[in-house]
Amino acid sequence: FSSIDILGIPFANATRNQFLDQLQGRIEHHQNTFVVTANPEIVMYARKDPAYRKLILTADFISPDGIGIVKASQTLKTPLPERVTGYDIFTHLLNWANQNKKSVYFVGAKPQVIKQLKLKLAQDFPNLQLTGAHDGYFKSDTEIVNVIEKQQPDIVFVATGFPNQEKFIAHNRHLTKGLWMGVGGSFDVFVG
Ligand code: UDP
Repeated sequence: FSSIDILGIPFANATRNQFLDQLQGRIEHHQNTFVVTANPEIVMYARKDPAYRKLILTADFISPDGIGIVKASQTLKTPLPERVTGYDIFTHLLNWANQNKKSVYFVGAKPQVIKQLKLKLAQDFPNLQLTGAHDGYFKSDTEIVNVIEKQQPDIVFVATGFPNQEKFIAHNRHLTKGLWMGVGGSFDVFVG
C-alpha cells in the first residue's frame, strides 16, 4: 500500500478488506509481519515519545483505528478510505485462521479472561490450532517467548495495551515467520 502521513505516522492507504487480504497473504507465505492499529491516543503518545514513534515505524503496516484519524486525513485532503480497527482485524483473522487451520498464540489480559478465551475458542473455533495462551501479567517473558519460538504460530496476538505490546512485538517478532499484532483490550471485548 501507499501510505498517508497523519501527524508523523504513515497509515496504510487501504480498505479493511484490502488490509485483511494483504495480512492473510503474508501469513500464507510465512512473511514476518508487524501490524500496529493506531488510535488517536497512540498517535499523540508517539509525538511525545520519540523512542515509541521509532518503534512504531518499524511496523510493516499501520492501520487507522479510529474515526478521528480518518477525519484528520480528510481535513488534510489525503483521505484514508475507512477506519480499520484492531478489534475488527482481530475477529476477522480469528475466523480466517479457524477456516484455514492456522496456529495462533495469545498473550495478554487477565488470567480469568484467558480462561474464558480458551473456552470460547474450543467451542466456536474448533479448527484453530491453539499453540498457547498466557495472561499479560507476567514478571519475566522468558517462558512465553520460548513457547512462541518452539511452536512457531502463524499469528501472535499481543493484548497487553500500548506502548507495552508494541515493545514486546518489536523485541520478539524475529522469533517467527508469522504475523504479530498488538490488539489492546480485544481479548476482554471478545469474551464479553
Ligand atoms: N494488560 C495486560 N498486562 C498489563 C496491563 C494491561 O495484559 O500489565 C491488559 C489489560 O488486561 C487489557 C489490555 O491490556 O486487557 C489493555 O486494554 P486497553 O483497552 O487499555 O488497551 P490500550 O488502549 O491500552 O491499548
